[in-house]
Amino acid sequence: MTDTLVAENLRKRYGDTVALDGVSLSVGAGEVFALIGPNGAGKTTLIRSLTGTTTPDEGRVSVLGGSPAVADKSRVGLLPQSFDPPARLSARELVRYYAGLYDESRDPDDALDDVGLADTGDTWYENLSGGQQRRACVAATLVNDPDVLFLDEPTTGIDPAGRRALWSLVEDLAAGGTTVFLTTHYMAEAERLADRVGLLADGELVAVGTPDALIADHGGESRLVVETDARRTAIETRFTIEETDSGLVFDGVTPADIGDVVAELNDRGIEYEALTWTEPDLEDVYLRLTGASLGPEVTRKAGQPAIAGGDQ
Ligand code: ADP
Repeated sequence: MTDTLVAENLRKRYGDTVALDGVSLSVGAGEVFALIGPNGAGKTTLIRSLTGTTTPDEGRVSVLGGSPAVADKSRVGLLPQSFDPPARLSARELVRYYAGLYDESRDPDDALDDVGLADTGDTWYENLSGGQQRRACVAATLVNDPDVLFLDEPTTGIDPAGRRALWSLVEDLAAGGTTVFLTTHYMAEAERLADRVGLLADGELVAVGTPDALIADHGGESRLVVETDARRTAIETRFTIEETDSGLVFDGVTPADIGDVVAELNDRGIEYEALTWTEPDLEDVYLRLTGASLGPEVTRKAGQPAIAGGDQ
């Protein structure tokens, strides 16, 4: 079967800046692929290359079996990172405008319903909340019932309830056979939605795989963070301990081991503010593979402190 999206050795420079440095990937029909990387990694340039809104200097792109230039636009949807519709269009008028660009389109109210804005169709775009504005833009990308949907940071700035609504929508679309290619700053979003994740660093795709496989192969061990002023030399334990800004990090601690660590701390009279047990996530994978943080805009799973990763 032909892959819905194929990129082969894409390279793109802007002056001295290398935005894409030999990216190859393929995405199958009905797959949800999430691209993760810090600002400047090349995510938008890759989406723009795949959608034909920019032309790579080198390499080949195939969308739905042909080059982006000849791809049937009625089968493709694109939510750009910056999408700034006229302020004095209502949500329904906005979606209806996009519906008018296609020979065949869905009922704009159905598209608004998909994103949880069924009751907000008459509200001017400028009077929608930031999250509602983004959802209205997503509705506009759905009017042509695309077979392949590109979403560049679809949930940035959306409140948690709106984000969950969009996650359900993406899951429904994928279940219906839509191929979804998205970029995100939210690790939980990638872990929940993506069949496969691609980690982009300085224009290079450093790893591709299912979230579970990437975390199992590269995420490191589960760990217990002990918020304390104590130094690691004060403790004798079978676990490796790192000293970080958050306190002491005990590597390789499973839930069943937590009692042993607490007993050790108590035996030695070590005072601590809090204990947090964490499992490795995609940000740990990124840190370990690139040595670079995903940046302050990246949000880990709720309640997880950022821990300096790596083996140093
Ligand atoms: P991301 O989406 O991951 O933040 P981008 O694809 O927007 O990354 O950018 C990758 C690199 O290319 C960055 O260094 C950015 O400054 C640069 N870049 C992107 N678009 C342009 C452009 N039109 N002109 C000059 N530099 C650009």
